Formats: sequence, structure tokens, C-alpha cells
Amino acid sequence: MSFVQGLRCRECGREYPTEPVHVCEFCFGPLEVRYDYDAIKRVLTRELIESRPANMWRYRELIPIDGEPTVGLDNGFTPLVKANNLGRVLGLNNLYLKNDSVCHPTLSFKDRVVAAAVNKAREFGYDTIACASTGNLANSVAAHAASAGMKSYVFIPHDLETSKVLGTSIYDPKVISIRGSYDDVNRFCSEVAAVFKWAFVNINIRPFYGDGSKTYGYEIAEQLGWRAPDNVVVPVAGSSLITKIYKAFNEFHDLGLIGEVNTKIFAAQATGCNPVTAAIKAGETDFRPVKPNTIAKSIAIGNPADGFYGIKVVNETGGWGEDATNEEIVEGMRLLARTEGIFTETAGGVTVAVAKKLVEQGRLKPDELTVIAITGQGLKTIEAVEGSLKSPVVIEPKLSEFEAIHKKL
Ligand SMILES: *Cc1c(COP(=O)(O)O)cnc(C)c1O
Ligand SMILES: [Zn+2]
Repeated sequence: MSFVQGLRCRECGREYPTEPVHVCEFCFGPLEVRYDYDAIKRVLTRELIESRPANMWRYRELIPIDGEPTVGLDNGFTPLVKANNLGRVLGLNNLYLKNDSVCHPTLSFKDRVVAAAVNKAREFGYDTIACASTGNLANSVAAHAASAGMKSYVFIPHDLETSKVLGTSIYDPKVISIRGSYDDVNRFCSEVAAVFKWAFVNINIRPFYGDGSKTYGYEIAEQLGWRAPDNVVVPVAGSSLITKIYKAFNEFHDLGLIGEVNTKIFAAQATGCNPVTAAIKAGETDFRPVKPNTIAKSIAIGNPADGFYGIKVVNETGGWGEDATNEEIVEGMRLLARTEGIFTETAGGVTVAVAKKLVEQGRLKPDELTVIAITGQGLKTIEAVEGSLKSPVVIEPKLSEFEAIHKKL
């Protein structure tokens, strides 16, 4: 049973059938999935959701596939961690971390979007999936293609971290490394997608891919005991996740699953790639593309596809945007690790560093309920912290040697 009614242009409202298309032919606006919310409201209750297994498919009525999911069955439902230690350091008494650094199977929130996209691609009859990626999407597309028995083509910029590349190649996809930035890769992939009849998860399948992100927001609301938080701090790359978290809270409210949504949405970017947060700070409604130069490669998108809508969500909710330098990103990663025992990648360093600034600016208040989005795994970006950590002390296996040094450790 599907609750999908088709696609609709976000700008002009024109409707389209459920097909692998992503832009409006008339105004070039992005297409969104349309659901029959009245029908969903009749069946979807808190009790039904809670009775289902702990994965993203517990919200399946709100994920745009027709049949039962066949791949990515165990994805999602990651921990929402009460972060008392980090909260004490930051001055936040009611702080939570939504920890997708342990999302199954490839340790980032991209497993949610890819699960939605690959199931949909199969329904459309594709045998090949593809993507333009800053790293995590590549890992996830390659892994899901392997488990689905599909072919995959993964396009990445040439300068990604070693673990992101190896963590893709291990699944044996075709990996194409492009001499250029992510924005060059993305532009190139649009040309490829026009010629090759593949399911590009973040191009022609993008409307379905994007709705996988909503599960991150649904889980936050359910795990808080069926309510929306006061604040969410979200890392922004293509600017899809930030809009979908807000959409998720509002859908839950409209379906009667949670009360009022008064959540402020905060955008977090790297100083070396901050088109969205720069626009917010300047009071502008649209962004100017930038050339990325940051260690936070997973969110280094200079021309974000949904940047306009990300800015809009932040402005509408009374949130704000801030950015973090390379040094602040590393310090954010180290602070999270030493206070909460969570090793996040550079994107998580960005959200922690930005949350710190937002507290200092008085925008996150001590007693408000704040959620920081942790979207990826630190073991994938070890280059970022190499050289800034203490090296192990090397000794012979002799008690006398240990006794001589142990007080100085
Ligand atoms: C892709 C990504 C994001 C941002 O996602 P968008 O929806 O493109 O804004 C954030 N964090 C990590 C770790 C990512 O890989
Ligand atoms: Zn349109």
C-alpha cells in the first residue's frame, strides 16, 4: 500500500506522476513527493510506530516507496544521546546528540537517503545506481548496490580522504575520480545522467532520496518522547537534510503525532565553504556559490542544490547560521570525543563548534532542549586529527620501564 500521489513542483505547484524526474519542465523548480496525508492519518499512530522494529522503516508510510522495502532493512534508528558532559562544557542543561556516526551500514546519515533511493530505483526497474558524492554517499551507494545485487557507478572529487575512498572501493563498484571539486563532479554527473539510463540517487531520483532524510527528524521527535526540540543544529552540504528535519517535525504535527512545533533550525557550515550561513548572516534570501576550501570535505558543496530552501527554513524558524574554521572543527571533534566518547567526522566537528558559538552569542539558551546533529563517523576522516593528538608512549614490556614513566603520562 502506497500513500504517494505523485510529484509536485515546489515553486509553481504543477503536478507530475511518480517518475524518476527531479525538476519542473516549466519553471525548473525542484520536484517533491506528494503524499495522501489524510489516508496516512487514518492508519499511522504512535502505537503502530512503536510496535515496529527499530529501523527507519517504522515510518514507512512517510517514505516514498510502493511495495515492501527490499534493501537497507536495518538502517536508521540510531541513538539519541543525552549529552550531560558536553552540555556542562557548553553551558546547555538539556543537550542531546542524534548520533548517525553509527548508522547502519556505512556509518553516516546517507544510509537513510540511499535506502529510500535504491528501493525506489528498483521499483522503477533500474539495474544500475549511481551518484555524485563528497564521500559518504559514495560509501553508502556502493554498499547498498552490493547488497541489492545491482551495478553501481560512483563519481567523487579526486582529493577525498583515504578512508572514504577505500570505504567505497571495498564493495567493488566502478569508482570515477574527477579532477575538480564536488560542484564540478555534480555538474558532470548531470551530463552523464542525461545520456546513461541509470538511477542517479541525488539527481534523477533526488525527490525520493531526499525523503529518506526525514527519518532523522522523525526519530528525534519519537526519541524525545513524541515532541519537537527547541533547537536543532544541522550540518549543511547540499542543504537537503536541514529542510527535511523541519519537514519531518511538521508532518508529525499535522498527523497528530506531536504537539506544536516551535523548533529553531540552525545551519552549520565550514568557514571554507559557507554559502548558506554567509547568506543568513548577511540577511539575504539566496546564496552566492563559493569555491570550497575546508577539511570538512563531506559538506564541501559550494553550490548547494537546496541552499535557497535551507536559508528559508532557518529564517522562518528564527534560527541562525554560523561557520567553523579548520582549527575549530578539529577542536569540536576532540571536545565531543573527550566529553561524550563519540568520535565523529569533520561534519560533526562543525556542528559542535557552531553550537559552542551559538551559545556564546546567546542564541541557544541554557535550559532549552537542543539537539546537535552528528551525521558521520570519525574513523573516516582521521587525516583531520592526525598530528594534533598525543602519540602513544613506546616502552619495552618491563615493569621497571612502566614505573619510570607512568606518573608522567
Ligand atoms: C551529506 C552530509 C551532510 C549534509 O547533507 P545535505 O543534505 O547534503 O545538506 C551532513 N553530514 C554528513 C556527514 C554528510 O555526509
Ligand atoms: Zn514548476
